[in-house]
Amino acid sequence: MTELTAYQAVNQYFADAAHTIDLDEELFAVLTTPYREIAVQVPVRLDDGELIVVRGYRVQHNGARGPYKGGIRYHPTANLDEVRALASLMTWKTALVDVPFGGAKGGVEVDPTGMSEGELQRLTRRFTTSIKHVLGVYRDIPAPDVNTNPKVMAWMMDAYSAVNGYSPAVVTGKPLDLGGAPGREAATGRGCVYVLDAHCTHHGRYLKSQNVAIQGFGNVGSWVARELHARGVPVVAVSDVGGALVQPAGLDVPALVAHVGSGGSITTAGGGDVITNEELLELDCDVLVPAALGEVITEANAARVRAGVVLEAANYPVTPSADKILLDAGITVIPDILANAGGVTGSYFEWSQNIQQFTWKEERFNSELLDRMQGAYRFTQAFAEEHGVPLRQAAYAIGITRVATAVRLRGYV
Ligand code: NAD
Repeated sequence: MTELTAYQAVNQYFADAAHTIDLDEELFAVLTTPYREIAVQVPVRLDDGELIVVRGYRVQHNGARGPYKGGIRYHPTANLDEVRALASLMTWKTALVDVPFGGAKGGVEVDPTGMSEGELQRLTRRFTTSIKHVLGVYRDIPAPDVNTNPKVMAWMMDAYSAVNGYSPAVVTGKPLDLGGAPGREAATGRGCVYVLDAHCTHHGRYLKSQNVAIQGFGNVGSWVARELHARGVPVVAVSDVGGALVQPAGLDVPALVAHVGSGGSITTAGGGDVITNEELLELDCDVLVPAALGEVITEANAARVRAGVVLEAANYPVTPSADKILLDAGITVIPDILANAGGVTGSYFEWSQNIQQFTWKEERFNSELLDRMQGAYRFTQAFAEEHGVPLRQAAYAIGITRVATAVRLRGYV
């Protein structure tokens, strides 16, 4: 089977779920096309005087349930098709966890590795200025994603506020000193663990007895590892772009966090054997957590996955043909729109605090996150059992039903 483009693949997942709920043709047409797509030129003067001109994208997929919401990634392979796919995932994700947002995503086709802080700041300000007319506290609210972080969000917030007045709620994932929420940075990874915990409980397994391999050790992967380690769950392998480290007895996660935090790579951290990212995906473990980029489990390697559960911390890590191979092999996939929804749920908490000008303590943030993530898991699991469908189909079906209802209620079509 030929692999689909990212957007075709997400629409394939959409179509499977739409069939489960008998979605009518009109809504099918509306919900499989993005509302608005912007592609802009982003010229950036480098420190040595050279000018580079890169491409930036913002796709607003659906806003029936609230302001558009989704991260911005900086990556050399970012492209409009992928941003469309990721924006669509955000629509179903925000609906599934029932936060009052629509779905959007942004990307800049640039390799930020080695760029100075000044260069990154100029890039961020130029991109924000070019898309500012479609952003807004009640219009479209970006957040961090691959290769973007709280510092980048602070620059976006400043560029937007320079024109519109002080607007912290226009982005989430901000630094704590600038309206960020304690708990938000960890929320995506922590949310993944809350969902895995609920899954183990449902199946009568102990989270502590699961051994877990994680691909990616950035924001999401490192927080999955930290949360698991804090609960005494063995993290047997982790990786970054350069390769992976495996230790069947469990890695020393705090030491890895410190090593990577001081600029080291996973493969030079010690405490385990170095293997490739491909080998990590094929390890004999209980839970495999792809937490880096999309399309890492494909038709080419899916049959070699030996984990019992694939927890999709990354967005779109499993292609539809691979999904079918995993299903046939009896491997449970906990889908991205459920597993990693802690990020947007945490963003909702941050945004709500910003617009109310009221701050929560981290304990409240984490306890509300736990409630929402485990509630969404149980709702999805119950739907899957009732309809005899996999978790992904159930999660999409729930999200699509909520968005379709809002579209009809608003009289959009
Ligand atoms: P990040 O930039 O902080 O970290 C990315 C990690 O992946 C790094 O460790 C990097 O070395 C590694 N990596 C990059 N290319 C790789 C490759 N080819 N092979 C193996 N590892 C590679 O990004 P992040 O914010 O942690 O995002 C990771 C994934 O989680 C993405 O799919 C993103 O869309 C998704 N996600 C992020 C959030 C969030 O709140 N940041 C929320 C939901 C979903």
